[in-house]
Amino acid sequence: MPFSKLDLSEKVLAAVKTAGYPNPTPIQEQAIPHVLARRDVLGIAQTGTGKTAAFVLPMLTMLEKGRARARMPRTLILEPTRELAAQVEESFDKYGKNHKLNVALIIGGVSFDDQDGKLMRGVDVLIATPGRLLDHSERGRLLMSGVELLVIDEADRMLDMGFIPDIERICKLVPFTRQTLFFTATMPPEIQRITEQFLHNPVKVEVSRPATTVAAILQQLVKTGREPHDKRDTLRRTIRAADNFKNAIIFCNRKREVAQLHRSLVRHGFNAVALHGDLDQSARTAALDSFRNGESKLLIASDVAARGLDIPDVSHVFNFDVPHHADDYVHRIGRTGRAGKTGTAYTIVGPGDGKAVAEIEKLIGQPIAWAEALAGAPDHAETQDEAREPRREGRGGTRNRHRGHRNESRAPREERFAPDRTPSPQPHSPQPAAQAQPPRREQRQPAPVARIEEARHRSPAAPAREPADHGGDHLPAFLLRPVRGKA
Ligand code: AMP
Repeated sequence: MPFSKLDLSEKVLAAVKTAGYPNPTPIQEQAIPHVLARRDVLGIAQTGTGKTAAFVLPMLTMLEKGRARARMPRTLILEPTRELAAQVEESFDKYGKNHKLNVALIIGGVSFDDQDGKLMRGVDVLIATPGRLLDHSERGRLLMSGVELLVIDEADRMLDMGFIPDIERICKLVPFTRQTLFFTATMPPEIQRITEQFLHNPVKVEVSRPATTVAAILQQLVKTGREPHDKRDTLRRTIRAADNFKNAIIFCNRKREVAQLHRSLVRHGFNAVALHGDLDQSARTAALDSFRNGESKLLIASDVAARGLDIPDVSHVFNFDVPHHADDYVHRIGRTGRAGKTGTAYTIVGPGDGKAVAEIEKLIGQPIAWAEALAGAPDHAETQDEAREPRREGRGGTRNRHRGHRNESRAPREERFAPDRTPSPQPHSPQPAAQAQPPRREQRQPAPVARIEEARHRSPAAPAREPADHGGDHLPAFLLRPVRGKA
């Protein structure tokens, strides 16, 4: 169905044409008519499905009639993170370029007074994170009694972040008769309860089963040792060995790990930026911009910081930590394989992660294949500063363990990730490990994703690998071993 059949306004259709979208995505096709008919909508969709435009386009059409009054926004969009809120604002800029609407962003970490000034001038679309919104409301600087349409986006993430009480308060501050659009990727019981309480006879639009993984993503598990330095070593070697690498998001479970891993990768010469909740807004924006414009090839992030970010063309996702919640795995790997492209997601699995991996496999309904242990010498040469990092993650501490490597030459090994440098070709091209070793006896049917990998070709444009750490030129590659097992 073409966009022109969706009853969107001429201005919106012109903006969609400029954006170059040939047709609506399934969530857009299914949701837009109901939004325009003023129905409440419960949208179950992952990011990457075009769900933002599914509410922004009809909102723009509806907002063409009427005017904003001071301190009384006409519509309100709630987002769990500042980055997501900023991203939705960008969508209004993009699709609303033919409109003259006042769009305001009310997020933490930026000047309260500037935001107050905008509210005073009258706002058609208010995009907010819950905490800062309630601050303005409690100070009497914002009246929500004029809100005609409320969007609650990424509701399951709001739940994870403890925002549900705030959402309930906000829902009680906006008129009962408002229209509500509610988007979530999964439907845990608490979210179900909220939808029953705050949506009125909603139309349910579901574009893919909740918590299913995107078919175009190759998923693999990579075995590692128990200690943090083992994991960092495995990560570095996995990144270097990755096929068709362009850029990657690396997920950690905790903010502290994000910062620590970031420092480590930078010391090892990788061009990496970090995104976590302890950074101030300008640092977060700078990190994201640097990753988006290709200056930085690696973005290290926590789930909260990265949730829903629209970063097109991410070739790889690395789970440095196996996520505690299987749902998070689905969200993480959904950062790659977007818009019809293939992507690859590697999960580094230590001895204590078996249960979490089993939960993930249960949720996605398929086993994830193991990548063969990477060939080549272990890259345990941590920098002196790293050796000083607190070893709180693992038991027993490893402070002095690799002292022997410390004085080795620290020639830059990750040139492919360093800015403005062209990697030099390596004297020995990598042998796919699959050719080097026979498959194990206990073979099982590979997961569908593994079959995708079998069909993939090594790109001639794939970046050259660096020399191995210990003088070797033995370059690792993965062996896809369709064997199920746990670390
Ligand atoms: P979202 O799920 O909202 O994060 O959107 C994911 C990506 O899909 C964004 O980069 C959009 O620009 C893009 N997109 C949205 N609608 C369409 C469409 N109809 N056709 C192609 N791409 C789209």
